[in-house]
Amino acid sequence: MPYTLINGKEVSEKVLEQIKQEVVQLKQAGKKTPHLAAVLVGDNPASMAYVNSKIKTCERVGITSSLIKFETDVTEQTLLTKLEELNNNADIDGYIVQLPLPKHISEQKIIESIKPNKDVDGFHPVNVGKLVLNLPTYISATPYGIIQLLEYYKIPTQGKHCVVIGRSNIVGSPMSILMAKNTQYANCTVTLCHSKTENIKQYTLAADIIIAAIGKPNFVTADMVKQGATVIDVGINRIASPDTKSGYKLVGDVAFDEVAQKCAYITPVPGGVGLMTIASLLKNTLLAAKKEIYK
Ligand code: NAP
Repeated sequence: MPYTLINGKEVSEKVLEQIKQEVVQLKQAGKKTPHLAAVLVGDNPASMAYVNSKIKTCERVGITSSLIKFETDVTEQTLLTKLEELNNNADIDGYIVQLPLPKHISEQKIIESIKPNKDVDGFHPVNVGKLVLNLPTYISATPYGIIQLLEYYKIPTQGKHCVVIGRSNIVGSPMSILMAKNTQYANCTVTLCHSKTENIKQYTLAADIIIAAIGKPNFVTADMVKQGATVIDVGINRIASPDTKSGYKLVGDVAFDEVAQKCAYITPVPGGVGLMTIASLLKNTLLAAKKEIYK
């Protein structure tokens, strides 16, 4: 069966173009340029790459960005003092603290120290609570990006069975909440699977939509997928590859080649969800600058 490849590049370019136009309109209306700050601790190569891409993408759409870097051994107190400064700096509309943080720093304490109106990652308990209660909020970027992909491709979701694999605070859990909402590109019956789920296959085989956010290469195989399903692969896994110059390549959580043959729609890795994550973060930054969530 021919499948439709969900093109994250195409959709994210459209989202970014829209953001760019809105930034121009804000400036033309005499408003300040939106400003996103990113806090990076240490020299984890993946975190550095993610933050650099966020900064670069800000430049592309005319959003001002600031990168605040700390050494790995920075104290939690120094970090908290910086967050307080960012909370009080009227020029910063929103900011993120790139995760993971070194072990000696409490991620939860850091997340809770971000002022909710500047928490464009949508990780603060206040924003997560608002998501659950159907109140306007910053939806965390990866789940928000996935909803936009479903919307762009007009993938039928109403009344369908969606299986989310993974229950992390940043992807799986908010994704399961979003897919169950009474909105057009949701309204699913949702099953949330995790590492303690027995016989995952019995759930995935009954799924119209599978969203895999596990962090295990090739976890979802063709025998787990029903004919005609939509498969959204969130995973980003670095595996050794003798064929590439760097010696590694990025793959998702889905065994793409075999699974695609059974799908109606599928996202590739790379080129799928990842690009939407950055675009959605910038969408949240624009919402913050326009004070659309917190007046
Ligand atoms: P995480 O915090 O490590 O959570 C992984 C989840 O997968 C957990 O809930 C875990 O269950 C579940 N899991 C692990 N092994 C499993 C198994 N054998 N069977 C069923 N469930 C299992 O990871 P995350 O932050 O959500 O990220 C998941 C993946 O998405 C990673 O590859 C990450 O790099 C990628 N990611 C991509 C983007 C993007 O923009 N594309 C953004 C964020 C993350 P338990 O809760 O029981 O441990």
